[in-house]
Amino acid sequence: MSGRDPGTGLIHHPYQAPDGFESPAVAVHKGSTVFFPSVAAMRSRTWKDKSAYTYGLHGTPTTFTLEERIAALEGGRHTLLVGSGLAAIALVNLSLLRAGDEVLLPDNVYGPSRELALHELAQYGVSHRIYDPMAGADALRAAIGERTRLVWIEAAGSVTLEFPDVRALVAVARERRVTVALDNTWGAGIAFPAFGLGSGHGVDVSVHALTKYPSGGGDVLMGAITSVDRQLHERLMMTHGRLGLAVGANDAELVLRSLPSLHLRYHAQDRAAREIAAWALRRPEFARVLHPALPDSPGHAHWASLCTAAAGLVSVVFDARHDGAAVDRFVDALQLFRIGYSWGGPISLAMPYRVQTMRNFAPPAAGSLVRLCIGLEHPDDLIADLEQALQAL
Ligand SMILES: *Cc1c(COP(=O)(O)O)cnc(C)c1O
Repeated sequence: MSGRDPGTGLIHHPYQAPDGFESPAVAVHKGSTVFFPSVAAMRSRTWKDKSAYTYGLHGTPTTFTLEERIAALEGGRHTLLVGSGLAAIALVNLSLLRAGDEVLLPDNVYGPSRELALHELAQYGVSHRIYDPMAGADALRAAIGERTRLVWIEAAGSVTLEFPDVRALVAVARERRVTVALDNTWGAGIAFPAFGLGSGHGVDVSVHALTKYPSGGGDVLMGAITSVDRQLHERLMMTHGRLGLAVGANDAELVLRSLPSLHLRYHAQDRAAREIAAWALRRPEFARVLHPALPDSPGHAHWASLCTAAAGLVSVVFDARHDGAAVDRFVDALQLFRIGYSWGGPISLAMPYRVQTMRNFAPPAAGSLVRLCIGLEHPDDLIADLEQALQAL
């Protein structure tokens, strides 16, 4: 060593830190390049069963650890990580569908998922059909055709929070031997068991926007794809590798750091959202309050039979005497609630929607809707903020 240039010595330094360091944190392992101790080791290593490391794209100790924890959270066996929830949806579609196939999307699907079907999937010869998730098992059975290869389910629905009969929809997909994928972002692995719906049923694939509750900070984009069946996982995993969809080590570490408080945050936001929903029911400005735990919210009985909790989302539909401009003034007048899309963080959010323009079937409520995503502020302060903003109507 001593004959080498000191600069080389900084790169190839012989000191190795001792093993045995332990702390609450999972280490941030970074690497595009992974070293092999020998050519033989390079030739014999495989990343597919997580028994070794070959290239940053195929996993590091940090990403393998996060994958295992998300699989455990969701009650699945295998998890893949990608750069956003939407990328997770895209990966499932691109991996499982080929030209000539059809995919079924629920009418309450996450909006960008519909856009993906309208554009890229159509461009690759994959057609889609929208089904009414609230019309029950027979409607889904009727919508499944010869070419249907994949059915998506969303529970509760984005924006309108209607809760479909998940068990019945999954049973129909099983009966017709069509793969069924759930967008599990709302349930987060906490509200209901996607892979254990009773009597041997479960979804095949669960997609989770880790961007939301698992991140918990409003500061990370990440998505997860979880499954139980090894063959299905390998199919998804090979597409994942071929498309090159790795996540950054620092982002993985941020999610790992937030996971221990996931259950506490989820249940706190659930409690606060229910308090706010109960307050909203008493206000004359709102024609409807949409939250699956409310008895007259669409699909309440399905929610009650499946779930032990609910996410911190509540949508309010304004009475027709308040026009869109007045509702926009209400949203602008909010002070603690900020205007933004990506929920699950500490700060409460409000977003106005014109639901009629987003649906093929009749939405559960017409009129101006504002979705409230409850953060970690005290619910009394949030209610006071909503009350002062109602003056702006
Ligand atoms: C946010 C969200 C997504 C997409 O997640 P991103 O990480 O923002 O791409 C997908 N589905 C649902 C239900 C979501 O709320």
